[in-house]
Amino acid sequence: MAYSYDPQNIFAKILRGEIPCDKVLETEHCLAFHDIRPQAPTHVLVIPKGAYVTYDHFALEASDAEIADFARAVGQVCQQLGIQPGEGGPGYRAIMNAGDHGMQEVPHLHIHIMSGRKMGHLVAPA
Ligand code: AMP
Repeated sequence: MAYSYDPQNIFAKILRGEIPCDKVLETEHCLAFHDIRPQAPTHVLVIPKGAYVTYDHFALEASDAEIADFARAVGQVCQQLGIQPGEGGPGYRAIMNAGDHGMQEVPHLHIHIMSGRKMGHLVAPA
């Protein structure tokens, strides 16, 4: 089954400049901005500029350049936020939700980078 991308999703509108965002970083293929409803003192989203719904979609169909840029952008955001545990920072949690069971709200790939408090268990008990 082919991936179907909704160009009216909120992150597509941010990428087209139709609604604002609190930008952290922009690269050739990615944009990073603060989450509008932060779940931690630091909560940044990194998204590819391309029309990808989920990480599996991106990993299977994006170009090597887009994938490399996304990986580097996440590293650069961590560096910029000063949260790298290997550099004296407090660490962080990175999450990518996908689809129904992942409880994905916005159908454009994004990675959540959260820090500033301990995150607790990885998932809530069933
Ligand atoms: P997810 O449940 O993984 O799809 O997460 C979507 C995230 O996007 C949530 O944490 C929302 O708070 C966030 N979000 C929704 N609209 C905006 C927006 N306009 N600007 C920044 N973050 C947003």
